[in-house]
Amino acid sequence: MDPKTLQPQIVSAYRVLETGEPISRAEALLLADLPGELALDLAALANKVKNRYGSSIESLHACSIMNAKSGVCGENCRFCAQSRHNHADIEVYDLVNEDSVLIEARNCIAEGVSHFGIVTSGYGYKKINAEFQRVLDMIDRLHRDLPGLSVCASLGVLGEEPAAALAAHGIAHYNINIQVAPDRYHDLIADTHTVEERIETIKLLRKNNISVCCGGIMGVGETMQERIDMIFALQDLDVSVIPLNVLVPIDGTPLEGKEPVSVADIVKTFAICRLAHPNKIIKFAAGRETIMKDFQGLLMLSGANGYLTGGYLTTRGRDIADDRRFASQIASFN
Ligand code: SF4
Repeated sequence: MDPKTLQPQIVSAYRVLETGEPISRAEALLLADLPGELALDLAALANKVKNRYGSSIESLHACSIMNAKSGVCGENCRFCAQSRHNHADIEVYDLVNEDSVLIEARNCIAEGVSHFGIVTSGYGYKKINAEFQRVLDMIDRLHRDLPGLSVCASLGVLGEEPAAALAAHGIAHYNINIQVAPDRYHDLIADTHTVEERIETIKLLRKNNISVCCGGIMGVGETMQERIDMIFALQDLDVSVIPLNVLVPIDGTPLEGKEPVSVADIVKTFAICRLAHPNKIIKFAAGRETIMKDFQGLLMLSGANGYLTGGYLTTRGRDIADDRRFASQIASFN
């Protein structure tokens, strides 16, 4: 397609394809204003930028997570089934044993997934306590028994000691989200902790040279401009992987029955994120199959180069094998 036939905002954004230089915040805001019918033109550009710059890291980054400790969390995240402030009907259990983690991780490897994340509910770990030590032991066991696997973790807010220990134990990526409207975290996400605590954790992780996986969930009541705030905050935080989720409104949480964001706005968010982060891994996480259903293929062609497969923390996803077939079809657009 000749870029000259496109809207001026998109023509200007073609510069990213030529130079690899990210768009500015002002350009992102102009792109966010494009009418829905032009979202596909923007997606096409984002897919080209992904192919030229994003794929140089990993062609399609597939990861899977295990909920290693579920529920009774004292935090009050409004989207989350695991908060004890909410009333979702979920399975609750303490930290699982090492063998269960090993079995789950083996299944991932057998299905061709290279990254496996251990996730625990709760605020996090400011010190290395007995539970955190057990997580470190799990990481060591996975490295020892499954040497090809990249082991990741999402354990909440961290203090100095736990962050340094994760680096020493060779974690591949650490996930901690600042969410889509960092300035309204208190109103839209939780008021039992702050986004600043999360940002401090990210700085600690980077100080320890740990690669950070950080993004947010679309559809919690944020504006497009606030999503752009997150996208540019992530530039400043030097993250490597950006997981973008679409809210799965869970019964028993304050966001139960929440109206979904339009597909065109989600496409634009993925595309703008790619143009602001040409060479990062942008991962489509929760909501891909359950909420986006028929549109997940389109979203994977709007700048994403990674996906979470095999299920989420309290909801099932699609089979890893089905996802692999899906990914091979997506690859034909590369
Ligand atoms: S997102 Fe994490 S911190 Fe927030 S309520 Fe759920 S388990 Fe707790």
